[in-house]
Amino acid sequence: MTNNISELAALDRDHHMHPWTHFQQAERDGPLVMTRGKGVHLWDEDGREYLDAVGGMWCTQIGLGNEEMAETLAEQARTLAYTSTFVDMGNAPSARLAAKIAEIAPTGFTRTLFTTGGSTAVDSAYRMAQFVQHHRGFPGRTHILSRHASYHGSTFASASIGMRDGDRIEEFSYLEKTIHHLSAPNPYRRPEGVSAEGFTDFLVKELEEKIAEVGADKIAAFFAEPVQASGGVIIPPEGYFKRMAEVCHRHGILVVADEVVTAFGRLGEWFSSEAKFGVVPDMITSAKGLTSGYQPLGALIFSEELWQEMSGDRWFTHGFTYSGHPIACAAALKSIEIIERDGLLAHAKHVGALFQKGLKSLEDHPLVGETRGDVLIGCIENVADKETKALHPDEIDIGKRVSDAAEKMGLLVRPMGHLNVMSPPLIISEAEVEEIIVKLRASLDQVADQLVREGEK
Ligand code: PMP
Repeated sequence: MTNNISELAALDRDHHMHPWTHFQQAERDGPLVMTRGKGVHLWDEDGREYLDAVGGMWCTQIGLGNEEMAETLAEQARTLAYTSTFVDMGNAPSARLAAKIAEIAPTGFTRTLFTTGGSTAVDSAYRMAQFVQHHRGFPGRTHILSRHASYHGSTFASASIGMRDGDRIEEFSYLEKTIHHLSAPNPYRRPEGVSAEGFTDFLVKELEEKIAEVGADKIAAFFAEPVQASGGVIIPPEGYFKRMAEVCHRHGILVVADEVVTAFGRLGEWFSSEAKFGVVPDMITSAKGLTSGYQPLGALIFSEELWQEMSGDRWFTHGFTYSGHPIACAAALKSIEIIERDGLLAHAKHVGALFQKGLKSLEDHPLVGETRGDVLIGCIENVADKETKALHPDEIDIGKRVSDAAEKMGLLVRPMGHLNVMSPPLIISEAEVEEIIVKLRASLDQVADQLVREGEK
């Protein structure tokens, strides 16, 4: 097999179906094949260097090419590459990791079911919510509440729980009758006539009304990302998540915090729902930063109380061949160890404050409607008109233009419709944060010039 990069790109184009593929685009453009990663940097097929402000896919917390991690993975592969963890089988890394998670998770969260990633963690939470409700004496509680602009994964249940514009295509079917989507808590795009101060009240009222409409006795759980990441880095208004959780709990509805993005330091804490939003959920789903992207792994984390409640002389017939995979769990343990030892939570908060300040400074740019974010998650919302917040027509592909311009300057930011989103590794330095902001402004300037030339602005 070849090592030649252009031949590899051809092999990829001819044989590899990418996730979230656009068929024509894939045939036409082929992939951008990355060949090396170190720290916050990536190198492509021509040896060009990029600062990866996307952090892989919200996940490369400790950075790439970490030697200690490489050694850990190799050592675990030599010692014990695989055992199943089904029924009564176990292995050392999964036992240690479950205990470590119990130590750093919110108080009382002592139990973990390992999954293969975020989607399967969400699917597991979906099933566990119904299981728990059944054993509480409510077998009729099978419905789910979720929000617009949420992303919870790509399996059938998680894709049905999520709801982002453009994700739903007619060729796929979704669970529709039992999943109900509330408004996204997006202050920038709140409904007309709703004040900033009144927005939380509006959203809480909507929840109360939805519960009354569906019937509390039919609803198993409310799924919510503390910050809606892939839906556009939506930072909810003050008090929102806490009040929503209180309403749910009052009605016997379980609260599932989907922390696939927001855990493991992304917001400067191990987990964000309690530490940042004052919410103690019933379950937490996690993945991504759990292993810093070195191995695929997800986790469904829940309380001792829930465990006691649902356990007994019965089976929970659910789990994956790679649940508790020894190498993946060893990777997570090493990543957590490095984050702890190197003080990366505090570092993330420090550089995150500079990152947010830098993003805010871009709000004077004519293309930028709003920038938003928290700690090391950020987003630029590009608009055609700052006053009316009107968007550019789809064919302008504004987010892609900005990211293409940035890419040419050696900066990777992710385009998502009219947005550009970022989540740099926790190890990013002050100088690298500065570089992101400088290159973002230059990219926005370039795109603004392009639009003027094309008569768009
Ligand atoms: N939940 C959230 C909040 C996510 O952002 C994602 C992935 N972007 C998922 C679930 C799904 O995770 P995975 O791609 O690992 O299945």
